[in-house]
Amino acid sequence: MAVFPFILVKKPSMKKDSVLIRHEIIHLRQAVELLVIPFYILYLVNYIINRFKYNNHHQAYMHIIFEREAYHQERNTTYLQTRRLYAWMRYFKRGN
Ligand SMILES: [Zn+2]
Repeated sequence: MAVFPFILVKKPSMKKDSVLIRHEIIHLRQAVELLVIPFYILYLVNYIINRFKYNNHHQAYMHIIFEREAYHQERNTTYLQTRRLYAWMRYFKRGN
């Protein structure tokens, strides 16, 4: 979990999980781009809208725009070096 400026993990071994760490670093980049607090507000608003739309916690979470970018790119080993500013906006237009 990313709580700016930290990444919190449940177990020390998770610090070695490069996919998880990359996912959380993407969230930290998103937070910086939105000056931190607005990121968390938008994240929550997006979740609430999705919760009504999908009527399901997991679906609502997976469709949060910031999660869509993070899950889509978490296995991309060069993503953090090539990511453009506000890259999460590209995920507004993607389907489902
Ligand atoms: Zn995430």
